[in-house]
Amino acid sequence: MSTPLALDHIGLNGACVSLRLEGARIAAIAPCDGVPLWQVMPLPVDPHVHLDKSFIWPRARPAEPGLFRAIEATLADKVNWSEVDLRARAELALTEAHAAGQSALRSHVDWGEPDTPLAWSLLGDLAAEWRGRITLQRAPLVSLDVLGDADHGPAIAAHVAATGDGVLGAFLYRHADYPEKLARIFRLAADHGLRLDFHVDEGLEPEAQGFDEIVRLTGHHGMAGRVLCGHACSLSVRPPDAVAPVLDAAATAGVALCVLPATNLWLQDGQPGRTPRLRGLAPLHEARAAGMQVVFGADNVADPFYPFGSFDALETLRLACTAAHLDPAEWLGAITTNATAAMGLPLPRIARSAPANFLLLQGRDWNDALRRAPVRRIFRNGVETRDTP
Ligand SMILES: [Zn+2]
Repeated sequence: MSTPLALDHIGLNGACVSLRLEGARIAAIAPCDGVPLWQVMPLPVDPHVHLDKSFIWPRARPAEPGLFRAIEATLADKVNWSEVDLRARAELALTEAHAAGQSALRSHVDWGEPDTPLAWSLLGDLAAEWRGRITLQRAPLVSLDVLGDADHGPAIAAHVAATGDGVLGAFLYRHADYPEKLARIFRLAADHGLRLDFHVDEGLEPEAQGFDEIVRLTGHHGMAGRVLCGHACSLSVRPPDAVAPVLDAAATAGVALCVLPATNLWLQDGQPGRTPRLRGLAPLHEARAAGMQVVFGADNVADPFYPFGSFDALETLRLACTAAHLDPAEWLGAITTNATAAMGLPLPRIARSAPANFLLLQGRDWNDALRRAPVRRIFRNGVETRDTP
């Protein structure tokens, strides 16, 4: 039997407590005199990354700013995506995420042709190899035109259902006939019992309104809690009076919103030699006030869509706080409980008899803990872990 471990001066929900660990669990939480020196939070997760394209930036720099040049640069680099190359880059990402204390990632996987991409099975192998350390989910990133195609969509959905992690996904931006294609995709998800994860309306044209149709179909199919929408940047430039009822409907339907601050700040309103004015963030304050679950993801790390970044959800939270004027103490759920719920994983808890899986961040309060690169201690199953990427 391992020796119990006492951790004092821990900030939890604004109070100062001591945590007592026994074995792999939190045995007791007791009030502590004095002020907190550390803040405690569940191990973070990232519901939206791209392990297949991470770290290709040095060899795949887009010629100009913007989403579509980034897509072209990525397509051109795919000749290099051998098994060796994909594995090396994805393992680096997983190692970095683990060293940052993350417990789960959902990676989108580029699925450009009707045929299954190599990265799909390779990331499946890595998910098995990393089980117990990081939960790795895959979501196919297929064009709406392919997944919503009556010939190709059913085969892809069946393959994802048979070999994947229960998540189907697509990207849509002002696609022709998008309501019919989305309707087919929702029927496939319902038939196979799959969750849905979209890249939707990642741009600043107000007429990009795929989000609204996803909300309608989620309600129609009763898929509350099973549909996650990434980006929805165009909501930021539509009239607030028009957006408010859409957010209310999304909350009622149970659609969650994933905000990707790094990629939006980098790609939206980008032109050579001109300072961007529009920053592309979906209206996250308003979405949460309406009752939507709002979560954050790193999205792109050192790839044509964002040349910087890391697999550290705390850095994503810090950037979101700056970009969207957030109080970090009120938004921790965006990288912990709400994000795990969006991924369909068990909710983490800091509570007596719960598994001792948490981070300690040095700081008197959350602002102090996150005002600079955080100093952290990582506990997994009651054991403090340290690894260096
Ligand atoms: Zn993405």
